[in-house]
Amino acid sequence: MSTDTATDRLDVSDGFDVHDYRSKLKLLRQTGDSMTLENRAELGCPACDRPFERLLVSEGESLTVDSPPAGRLCVVRTDDRTLLVAH
Ligand SMILES: [Zn+2]
Repeated sequence: MSTDTATDRLDVSDGFDVHDYRSKLKLLRQTGDSMTLENRAELGCPACDRPFERLLVSEGESLTVDSPPAGRLCVVRTDDRTLLVAH
């Protein structure tokens, strides 16, 4: 019996492309080199597998979060992006 389809997880093993998740992530905000997305499909976090609420994607060398969430925060690196996962 397979449980492969139990949780849909954000897969960043080949990098992150928002277009792969167009129906599952809603764009809330976009600035020069970063964007904030809302998880609409209970996608699992690439770091801890738990569903997350918000995703911040940055292509820059550094990133600033004005009001970090009180809950769990995971950081995931791909080749050219930094992902901040807020639960
Ligand atoms: Zn996480």
